[in-house]
Amino acid sequence: MPIIAKFDPWGNPLCPCPPKYGLNPYTGCGHSCTYCYISSYIPRAFEPRPKEGLVRAVLRDLAKIPKGSVISLSNSSDPYTPPESKLQLTRQILRILLESGYKVLIVTKSPLVVRDLDLFTKYPGKVVVQITITTLREDIAERLEPHAPRPIARLKAAAEVARAGVPLGVRLDPIVPFINDGQNELRAVVDAAAQAGARQLVASTYKAKPDNFARLVAAFPDLAEKLKEMYWVKGTFFHGQRYAPREYRLRVLSYVKELAEARGLQFDICREEFFELNTPGTYCDGSHLLK
Ligand code: SF4
Repeated sequence: MPIIAKFDPWGNPLCPCPPKYGLNPYTGCGHSCTYCYISSYIPRAFEPRPKEGLVRAVLRDLAKIPKGSVISLSNSSDPYTPPESKLQLTRQILRILLESGYKVLIVTKSPLVVRDLDLFTKYPGKVVVQITITTLREDIAERLEPHAPRPIARLKAAAEVARAGVPLGVRLDPIVPFINDGQNELRAVVDAAAQAGARQLVASTYKAKPDNFARLVAAFPDLAEKLKEMYWVKGTFFHGQRYAPREYRLRVLSYVKELAEARGLQFDICREEFFELNTPGTYCDGSHLLK
């Protein structure tokens, strides 16, 4: 079984990003976000463990992947999930990929990413970093992303990434109805992203599966009825997930686009059908920022 696989094995038609590969140094992720979808297909999803024989398997798979290909490290686990601070597996893999001529996309919630700025700056234009910031409100972040680093630490890391000259995106993803979708809160995140030096803002709404929905309503019991109605009564089913109603998603994403573009940021949506909202020539995975 390859450890580096073509990204998006489910062929989601709402993903217009160019082809790439995916590689996760860890199985599972310790950030335990309530909305996370990995629990639907990874056993013990929030107990991160290193992949066995990782380096050997990566070298084996790279022999079959054309140089210059784009490899995303972030699709089923944050590459800077807590054990990484000691194990440094992601760092080891980054070194191999960059030295071998591949390009890398990183999405993280951890300020540990700044540890690897020395590698990113050695290979200019070969790495794009996206940092996820769903809210600046600590009380909401604690319930939404209980074991992830706090938003303020992520913002500080984002500014360091941008200051080092590494292309930076901020992911306001997911926007969850009634929880982090207030206009003032959305504006605060977009303002902070622009001030940190981001070039791109990616936004997307929460998609529900039974397991992540159960965690969400357990974390926000006062909103359970409203969320149930939004997703399971009024919402739509698409590609294995429940979406909030179209009008809601279009309204909130259009609002964020307006905020982002007014601040000079590129804007992209992720796995939503409103492709016309994307800034032309850009992709939500940030791959257009690679050289
Ligand atoms: S950081 Fe990403 S992979 Fe990790 S738990 Fe949160 S959403 Fe899931």
